Amino acid sequence: MLSSSTASSLRLHQPTRPHRRRPPSPPASHQFRPPASAAASRRHLPSVRTRRGGGGTIRAIDAAQPFDYESRAAGLLEERQRLKIAIVGFGNFGQFLARTFARQGHTLLAHSRSDYSAAAASLGASYFQDPHDLCECHPDVVLLATSILSAEAVLRTLPLHRLRRNTLFVDVLSVKEFPKNLLLTSLPEDFDVICTHPMFGPESARDGWDGLPFVFDRVRVGDSPARRARADVFLNIFEREGCRMVEMPCADHDAHAAETQFLTHTVGRMLATLDLQPTPIDTKGYETLLRLVDNTCSDSFDLYNGLFMYNKNSTELLNRLESAMDSVKKRLFDGLHEVLRKQLFEGKASPPTNKNAGDVQRKPLLLEGKASPAPPTPNNTAVHLK
Ligand code: NAP
Repeated sequence: MLSSSTASSLRLHQPTRPHRRRPPSPPASHQFRPPASAAASRRHLPSVRTRRGGGGTIRAIDAAQPFDYESRAAGLLEERQRLKIAIVGFGNFGQFLARTFARQGHTLLAHSRSDYSAAAASLGASYFQDPHDLCECHPDVVLLATSILSAEAVLRTLPLHRLRRNTLFVDVLSVKEFPKNLLLTSLPEDFDVICTHPMFGPESARDGWDGLPFVFDRVRVGDSPARRARADVFLNIFEREGCRMVEMPCADHDAHAAETQFLTHTVGRMLATLDLQPTPIDTKGYETLLRLVDNTCSDSFDLYNGLFMYNKNSTELLNRLESAMDSVKKRLFDGLHEVLRKQLFEGKASPPTNKNAGDVQRKPLLLEGKASPAPPTPNNTAVHLK
């Protein structure tokens, strides 16, 4: 070991430490804390032993020296990319999102009505049965991932006063105007609000999120660099996974979603009532229908019901769907009636004038118990009406 005098002379040979300013610390109201592991690894940087001429051992100055600006800056940047995210509603979708958040190195807290402590532990998340304990951890972001139907009640159970003054609230509900109004009316004005809808789920994004749409609306983000940065860091989670980022007002989302998502789920649910089964001669189209049933019915009925109850455009879509079915049926039956009328009133079968009636109607019709102008032969198929 070096004597203290040798050590002090060695210190003289160190490069003069330049006067440097500390990087500005984020405002007290918004300081991202690094995950415990990152902080620990910086404290325990490796030290190197070297030998010098006289046999004395020098404990070398470790890698993160005060003048090692680059690694410090990189570390600081990395810290700022990490969020402490509290997921409220840790069911199917909450856990699905948590897997990616955890992989990206964010600190996760979770709370739900049911006990998901084992699932949380497997993801490295801390589970809190009591929302007070969750809020006292001062997450940067509270992510609301409960069912649409329960969102209002769940939000009311959160002790908002235990959170930091300008916590960021994000929701991932599949409708957007409802949570926007709910969050704006329920949260203190200092809280930031981003309404989002990842347009995919555990089934459709089984192979990753690349290219899948992520809709978001920065409903209220405070005008400070730290708050804007926090919003960006959160949105960047999805950008990093390759999502197609679509910034859109909540009202526009709901108008589009009724025409796309609610329609898809409704058709899937309708087909499910037919109890469709695979057959030995399935076409590609039929296989698509079977997959649609699987994709839509793997979501809870609560989710589907929420799409209907909390999107004002859904009722109109249902009405349009019903009249679309009626108009398709009408076209078919109108063609049929035309052929029938000709047989009944003109006494002869003539080709239908309705272009859409199809080949089958070019054949004469055979009414049961009535003479047919052209009795069917083995090669002359007739339509038998009962
Ligand atoms: P969900 O049935 O819509 O919601 C299940 C979640 O809601 C669970 O965390 C459940 O808690 C909670 N919950 C239900 N009723 C509750 C009540 N009365 N009180 C307290 N908590 C209640 O299914 P999900 O698929 O997990 O969806 C969660 C949210 O993500 C929904 O808002 C949905 O619209 C949205 N989302 C889902 C998908 C998807 O593909 N699944 C995609 C995008 C967005 P417990 O499990 O603890 O009972």
